[in-house]
Amino acid sequence: MISALMPNYKRADLAFEHGNGVWLTASDGRRYLDFAAGIAVSSLGHGNPKLVKAIAEQAAKVMHVSNLYRIPQAEELAELLVKNSFADSVLFCNSGAEANEGMVKTIRRAQYENGHPERTRILCFDGAFHGRTLAMISATGNPAYLKGFGPVVDGFDHAPFNNTNTLRSAITPETAGIIVEPIQGESGVKPATESFIKALRAACDEYGIYLGFDEVQTGIGRTGKLFAHEWFDVKPDIISSAKGIGGGFPLGAVLATEELAKHLTPGSHGTTYGGNPLACNAGIIVLNEVLTPGFMSHIQAVGEAFGKMLDDIVQHFPHIFDSVRGMGLMRGLHCIPPAGDVMAVAQHHGLLTVSAGDNVLRLVPPLIVTEEECRMAYDLLITTAQDLSSTQHPQQEKIS
Ligand SMILES: *Cc1c(COP(=O)(O)O)cnc(C)c1O
Repeated sequence: MISALMPNYKRADLAFEHGNGVWLTASDGRRYLDFAAGIAVSSLGHGNPKLVKAIAEQAAKVMHVSNLYRIPQAEELAELLVKNSFADSVLFCNSGAEANEGMVKTIRRAQYENGHPERTRILCFDGAFHGRTLAMISATGNPAYLKGFGPVVDGFDHAPFNNTNTLRSAITPETAGIIVEPIQGESGVKPATESFIKALRAACDEYGIYLGFDEVQTGIGRTGKLFAHEWFDVKPDIISSAKGIGGGFPLGAVLATEELAKHLTPGSHGTTYGGNPLACNAGIIVLNEVLTPGFMSHIQAVGEAFGKMLDDIVQHFPHIFDSVRGMGLMRGLHCIPPAGDVMAVAQHHGLLTVSAGDNVLRLVPPLIVTEEECRMAYDLLITTAQDLSSTQHPQQEKIS
């Protein structure tokens, strides 16, 4: 008989009872070092006292009122985001896919209102991941996610990632905008090159189309800047955010310039839960924490130290890992054995990671992680690599 939960996930046989910082305790009492962070979500770690208190207090006051009324918490969070980013205005929602839908709708609507109703298509890139709604599996373009779900939602084109030569020929008179991840996450922690991002900006300016970044995974400090596009010194027209923005509470956002945002007039778009007092209060705590002076340089310093540790692992275990990818606290180790096997062995030794495409082991710890905790992850990865080495090369093991 089928389980009560639909079988769309192949879950590890592991359940957690509580968490504290970068640690999770399973129902059998075993502690795990959490370098998965619920897939780059638990930005302040587990059980952050300020976040817990804010959510509990807000829950006791009022959780939800709908967008028929003013929501002071949403106004405050939007102002914080506007003050600290390129954006002039913010739309809240509940997830990454929904934020990307909002981004695409805003781009299309702005082109329509500007006298270009023919400009409806969005240019995306090979290896992208934009979410699992019908439109976003089409934006993602990965056949594995499209299979069996019927007609592909029209309006999305794809070009090679990081290829400036093929870019312009992919833009047509119907192109409304471009959407790209500053670092492709799900497909294997693949950073966009600065020249590629700059070429995207130049092409958008030349053709009068909009540049959108999917910062669902890379945003809210993950790479050591509030948003990863800031590393490129390129101004977007619109971006999406989710994952880390609520510190574990579901929240998504679309941030845009006034030129785009002004077209989302009353009635044009909506969401019942989006931007509710509870979610936004969580977002305010997370953002204030991430924007505390010194926090971003903490992420940069710890991220760099962690990167060096991973380089060291690659040097010592080239038959297990052959390269390090990513930046800040968004890292990937390209694996020689199947990344899923590496992830399982690491978990066996008490380290939680996430596998990604292209046979990559993803390491995305809470942003509050310390260098000492990275050192513990490093030690556990070495144990993992040693363990895998003995099963991969049983002969060598016997000789030595
Ligand atoms: C996770 C992710 C999404 C989808 O977010 P959901 O909250 O699962 O809908 C979209 N884009 C990127 C880059 C992501 O990493």
